Formats: sequence, structure tokens, C-alpha cells
Amino acid sequence: MNETIIEGPLYEARKKVYPQAVHGRFRRIKWAILIFALAVYYLLPFVRWNRGLGFPSQAVLVDFPHRRFYFFFIELWPQEVYYFTGLLIIAAMTLFLMNAVAGRVWCGYLCPQTVWTDLFYAVERFVEGDRRQRIISDQRGWTFTHIRQAATKHFIWIMIAWWTGGAWVLYFADAPTLVKDLATFQAPFIAYLWIAILTATTYVFAGHAREQVCIYMCPWPRIQAALTDEWALNVTYRVDRGEPRVSVKKAEQLRQHGAPAGDCIDCHQCINVCPTGVDIRNGIQLGCIQCGLCIDACDTIMSEIGRPSGLIAYDTDINGQRRLAGKPPVYRLIRARTILYAGIITLVGSVMLYALATRTSLSINVLHDRNPLFVQLSDGGVRNSYTVRILNKGPERAFALNVSGLIDADLHIAGTERGPDGRLTVDVGQDQTREIRLSVQVESANVPQRPVDIEIKVTDVVTGQTAGVADHFVPPNQ
Ligand code: SF4
Ligand code: SF4
Repeated sequence: MNETIIEGPLYEARKKVYPQAVHGRFRRIKWAILIFALAVYYLLPFVRWNRGLGFPSQAVLVDFPHRRFYFFFIELWPQEVYYFTGLLIIAAMTLFLMNAVAGRVWCGYLCPQTVWTDLFYAVERFVEGDRRQRIISDQRGWTFTHIRQAATKHFIWIMIAWWTGGAWVLYFADAPTLVKDLATFQAPFIAYLWIAILTATTYVFAGHAREQVCIYMCPWPRIQAALTDEWALNVTYRVDRGEPRVSVKKAEQLRQHGAPAGDCIDCHQCINVCPTGVDIRNGIQLGCIQCGLCIDACDTIMSEIGRPSGLIAYDTDINGQRRLAGKPPVYRLIRARTILYAGIITLVGSVMLYALATRTSLSINVLHDRNPLFVQLSDGGVRNSYTVRILNKGPERAFALNVSGLIDADLHIAGTERGPDGRLTVDVGQDQTREIRLSVQVESANVPQRPVDIEIKVTDVVTGQTAGVADHFVPPNQ
């Protein structure tokens, strides 16, 4: 059997995209989101939050040295990492929900790659002109004007990238102090390193790789292709309205004679404004990030030629088929998958809120010594030892230790004496963890016959706040 081998390149060479400026509803929404997202990102580290003396006053702070995460009134400890799991579940389900309702709305409006690329395109347009001027400039080659414009553009891009990297590190230390340290070259080396890495990645991804990130690097388009269904709203070219494509003049003539004429005049404006260079008239494609800019472009053309807007619009696959069959469109936002995603978000969010609302500023962990499990004393008494860790999420305070479940248990803490009031107390610093060695001893007459459950408890000597944990006391021969 003869096999035909088709030789050719393994991938298509990149065609440079020159997106044209566009005005309209979706462009305004994108500008609003861009300004809001960038303002939050660059300014949030400077927002202050009063947590009291000795606590950091930065509203959002990842405090690695003290192993804490601060988010306004919330302070998370490493032991509470499950909150991040909850946040990840909510984030994933929100993405799935967005996808089920409106396709790649995340890609088109909210993804950092989209936001920064949009900003870099705005700079490019401001410095080098709109699509036509940029194409002509590239065709002319390296003229003096082209070199000057390119140098200006890359300088502004690098400044934006540098600010992006600079803002990132401010989330990991007190922002005003770090800014001062960075300016006087007294900041830690790791801060400069991260700024350099993020400056480089922002510059490369938003300035050069651009749509290539969405098409080749990001896994989300592939995942969303598996998640979407025929009821999801996607940017859609309405074939029933658009075809056959003819010029305005020809369309008028055809309509006068009662012949079919589509609304698409093949002006290519929808392609010209597309940041990924997609022709949406060929159907939904991997390269389409669902930004809606082609809708704005086409609506402008429709209004200029006196045809109804919406030749390109957010619509569903089902409606595409229904329109072709002459049926009215139907929309179904509430369906099994949207209910499921919304339900999971509500459930996980509620559990997290409840856990946050009822979390305590004090907790203890106890580890019973394994080797030896007990110590038989010469007078017949028995001693068990424990490692007790007290987590104090409040101000510095003293805690009294008690053990219940044993008769006349005698407690000892290594390096600590009983106070004048006879209580065994330990001081734990503000927002600190303290580990102590606790010995629990009972006289021979009170040694239990078998292991017994006990509760080890700490009590704030001023407020009376308590935290306890169950463990056991092990006698000999068990
Ligand atoms: S902008 Fe509208 S009219 Fe122009 S080519 Fe695209 S779909 Fe057709
Ligand atoms: S085809 Fe339209 S919606 Fe898709 S990326 Fe291009 S401009 Fe945005």
C-alpha cells in the first residue's frame, strides 16, 4: 500500500497581530476592569490596617519570617492552611461557573495576561499610532522615526514591567519601609531578584509573547473546551444574519429584488480589532479569548450601514442552530452545572465564613511521649510526659495549666516554678507559639489500673479564656 507523506512545517509561523483601536460597550467594560485591577494591584500594599501595637499595619501582607498571612481583619497561621484550600476550591468553581455562563469571560476581561497585554497595546498605540501606521512603519523598516518610537515604547514597557515586579515584592514586607530600602539599596537581595524576574516576565509576556501565551502556553483554553456546553454564552458570529457576505451596494440591490443578502459586508473590522488575530466568522476557536471587541467593531459598522446591531454577539451554540432552523432563541442560565458550581461556592464559602467567625485566638496541641510511655517512680508513683504547644493569637499573656481526669495529679513544667498563688503558669508572647515540656505525676495510691482519658487545659489568667485537648495517662504494664 502506498502512503502519501505530506511534508511541511510542524507549526505555523507567527503572524504579527496589529490590533486596531475600537470603541464601544465591551471596550469600556475592559477599560474599567483594567483600571480597577491595576489600581488594586499597585496600591493595595500601601493600604494600612490597625491591628494594635506590635502587629503589622499593612492590610494585605504575606509575612514569611513570622509565618503569617494578613488580609485586613483576617490573620492566618500555618496551621490554618486549609483556608487556602477553601479559597482554591472557590476560585476553581468560580472559573467553572463563569465558563458555564459566559465562556472564556475570565480570559477576555480578568486574566492578568489580558490586562497587561491590553495596557502594553495601549502604550504601543499611543507611541506608534494605530494599526495602519504600525503596519506601514514595520514595512518601511528601521527609519529614524521607527527607531525613536520603538525605543520610547520599549522604555515605557520596561517601566511598567518594573513597577509590576516592584509592586509584587511589596506584598511580602512593610511596603513604605521596603520602598525606602529598595531606593537606598538596603533591601534584601531576594527582593531585587524577584523584581528582576517579574520585570522580565511581564515585559516578555505582555510586550512580546502576547496572544502566543493564550494560544500555546496557557492550559485554560484546553480545560474550558472540555467544560463548556451548548448553553454557554460565547462571542458568536450569527451566520443566519451575516451570510451571504456582500458589499453594501450589492446587498441593497439584492434586497430590492427580494434576493437574500447577508449583513456582513466583509469589511474585516472584526479581525482588525482582535487582539489575537482571529476571524470569529469561522466559528469559535482556541485563539478567541472572548473579549467582545469584535462585537464593538461590528456594531459600529452595522450602525454606519443602517443595519441592526448584534451580527456578532454573545450567544449560545443552541441558538445558532435554532436560528438557522428559523426558531426563536432560548437562553438557559440556570441549569444543572451552574446550580452545582454555585452550590459548591456557597457551601465552601459558608463553611469558611463560619470557621472564621468562630475561630479562637487560643489553641493547644499535645503530644504524649512515646518512649518511654510512662516512668515508674521509686515511691510507686507514675509519671507521664507531654509536649504541649500553646498558640496565642492575641496579645502577650499568661496561661495557667490544668489537667483533669486524674486524682491529685502533680504538674511540672521544665524550667517553670509555681507562682505564689500555687498556679503553674506560662507566659506566651503576642502572636506567638510556645512549646513546653509538661510532666504529670500521680502518687502510687492514685495510679489508675488502666489508661485513662485526661484533658490538658490552658486558661488565660486574666480573661479566663480556655483551650483544652484530650489525651491519656498510661500506667505501667499496659
Ligand atoms: S465587522 Fe461585521 S461586517 Fe465587518 S467583516 Fe466582521 S462580521 Fe462582517
Ligand atoms: S474574535 Fe472577538 S472576542 Fe474573540 S478574541 Fe478576537 S475580538 Fe475578542
